Amino acid sequence: MTARAKDYYQELGVSQSASDDEIKKAYRSLAKKYHPDANPDDPSAGERFKEISEAYTVLSDSDSRKKYDQLRRFGGLGGYRPGAGPTPGASPGGTRNFRFEDLGGIGDIFSSIFDLGKRTAEERRQGPVRGRDVEYLIEIPFRTAVRGGRVTINVPLSEECANCDGTGAAPGAGTDTCSECHGRGTVTFGQGTFSVPRPCPACMGRGQIPRQVCSACGGRGEVSTRRKIAVTVPAGVDDGSRLRIPGQGERGPGGGRPGDLIVKFKVHDDRFFAREGLDLACEVPINVAQALLGSRIRVRTVDNKKIVLKIPPGTQSGTTFRIKGQGVEKGQRTGDQLVRIVVDVPDELSEEGRDAAERLARAEGLRH
Ligand SMILES: [Zn+2]
Ligand SMILES: [Zn+2]
Repeated sequence: MTARAKDYYQELGVSQSASDDEIKKAYRSLAKKYHPDANPDDPSAGERFKEISEAYTVLSDSDSRKKYDQLRRFGGLGGYRPGAGPTPGASPGGTRNFRFEDLGGIGDIFSSIFDLGKRTAEERRQGPVRGRDVEYLIEIPFRTAVRGGRVTINVPLSEECANCDGTGAAPGAGTDTCSECHGRGTVTFGQGTFSVPRPCPACMGRGQIPRQVCSACGGRGEVSTRRKIAVTVPAGVDDGSRLRIPGQGERGPGGGRPGDLIVKFKVHDDRFFAREGLDLACEVPINVAQALLGSRIRVRTVDNKKIVLKIPPGTQSGTTFRIKGQGVEKGQRTGDQLVRIVVDVPDELSEEGRDAAERLARAEGLRH
């Protein structure tokens, strides 16, 4: 750890009012200059690189930058004291008054930047681990959800590179122990109470630096692939339901078991049917005469069969009829088709229709 006071703005050589762009630019040029790969003979470059990365991690996130600015004003960081006098709330000693937790999510930011899905040296020592589960959303037609079916998907996966077994090193070329973390794979950022161990940025937490990077993955240790999988959709899946397909997730690092694929279904709406549990509801219009006199209408089922439904005389709009067994089949249970009748009252009548309506009105003693 360096003895001098740590100031993230000084680390990057920018002013406290620097814009996000200026910070990014400063970081990029410094990171290029001090990256351990570019300075194999200068061990101090790695230390500098670490400091730059740390500074950038904090300052590039507006939330953590705000918190850092606060701590900095209070003189809570490594003895750095700006010209302003003591701020209310700061202890006279300054440095010991602040805890890392005060910075809130910075720990998470460190992980998100440096924990690039790689295993640390520590994890590697633990041997094979199970691969990660992968979640994938499938959109399926309404009927497939009701009756089941088969869909083929192309799942994007990030897998441990098979060429280098995830080490990022060209096979046979060998590796050197990382001079930053001395093979531990982790480094401690910050100092005193403001410190936290994180995956080493120089070796990406591997503890080893390859002498030659793997050509298949460019040293990342991971490759992006797509896997074609035929999914059997069980009958009766709902919108949002999940299906676990064992062993179709990501490969297990170090030869571990693969993870699972978790398929989540998004069911398309149907123009005619709506799910109501295991029942399938639909609306069928009839005309006034059918409502008054009764009728036989043909109703389509989800399997595209036509079923004759008897409408008794005097059927009110909104009456629901149940066609047994034409709903969703799930396990031992089967739902019904619910047919809701809507009586279509014409806004205009033919002359003949009008005569008929008037005769009806007289017969029923209605006046208009
Ligand atoms: Zn390292
Ligand atoms: Zn590789």
